Amino acid sequence: MSASAEFQPPRERKAYPSACPLCGGSIREERVTLHYAAPHGTTRLVHEVPAGVCQSCAERYLRPDVAEKIEHLLSAPPAGREEVPVWNFAASA
Ligand SMILES: [Zn+2]
Repeated sequence: MSASAEFQPPRERKAYPSACPLCGGSIREERVTLHYAAPHGTTRLVHEVPAGVCQSCAERYLRPDVAEKIEHLLSAPPAGREEVPVWNFAASA
């Protein structure tokens, strides 16, 4: 099951800045994975989010309707779970 079915193609793009406010780079819409902190030190991932991505500094911008939809999404049970590999720097030689 794909999470992309949850999102409709964007109809309105005017909420993205025309140029990156941080570096002046151009912004292009891409599908990205967003990370959100969750209770007990866990992380929640949201895949396939349409976001404006600065082509120079990689800063991401969300349209208000997308940000709102993510809030709703995170209040519902997850679509799935993924295992994440971990390393411990202090344990290295
Ligand atoms: Zn930028």
